[in-house]
Amino acid sequence: MSTFLFDDIIFGPISSRRLGRSLGINLLPENRKICNFNCIYCECGWTENTSFEKLTFHPRKEVYKALKSKLIKLVSTGNQPDVITFAGNGEPTIHPDFDAIIDDTNEIRNNISPNTQIAVLSNATMIHKNSVFQALSKIERNILKLDSALEDTLFKINQPKEKIKLNKLISNMQSFNGKLIIQTLFLRGSYKGNKIDNTTENEIKAWLKLLKLIQPLEVMIYTFHRDTPAKGLIRISEEELNIIGRKVEKEGIKILVSP
Ligand code: SF4
Repeated sequence: MSTFLFDDIIFGPISSRRLGRSLGINLLPENRKICNFNCIYCECGWTENTSFEKLTFHPRKEVYKALKSKLIKLVSTGNQPDVITFAGNGEPTIHPDFDAIIDDTNEIRNNISPNTQIAVLSNATMIHKNSVFQALSKIERNILKLDSALEDTLFKINQPKEKIKLNKLISNMQSFNGKLIIQTLFLRGSYKGNKIDNTTENEIKAWLKLLKLIQPLEVMIYTFHRDTPAKGLIRISEEELNIIGRKVEKEGIKILVSP
């Protein structure tokens, strides 16, 4: 498959279906994916089995310098982004200075482009860490992944490095008191002989139940668009995503469908 990796700290702005004009920050090493999930649909490709302790991340100072200079340039030409988005080559909250970098980003944004929001796309596995929880509480768009409400499906889709307890994850999400956005990628197909489908009636019923418990500001649903590392996966049609979206709406929760 062709993998999609970022080769710098700052990328874009790019036009994002879900976020608008988005200036990206990649805290992970260039040309390499680092994550504690190994999602079967990940556009960055498969996760290598590496110990995070041995990795070198972009130093906080470099991130500060790169973001400040890019934002000054954009604002001076009238091109301020709608959002600064932490995404890139893997899971941003793994960075050891993630909380301090979020503080820096808030400071830079407030001084240079106060109308720009800050977003983090995260798989939510690090929100049990107080520093990560506090950092995510300080941004406008705390976007956390929840691809299934059934542990077995979640493990098949996300293939976490370490076993995660779904009930613990949900109670950590509840601690944000609604200041979070849930993102769910829908797909079906098979991998390693296992049938996978997070759109079945059972799946949606269980997922809606969790959404009601979490009470997020918004739910974003989508399907994959690029090559996936696992073969045999099928995208979900816009029509089907809209049907799922209407069910979320019925629960009084804001929905954004990105076909
Ligand atoms: S959490 Fe994101 S970066 Fe990590 S494997 Fe899944 S899709 Fe890829």
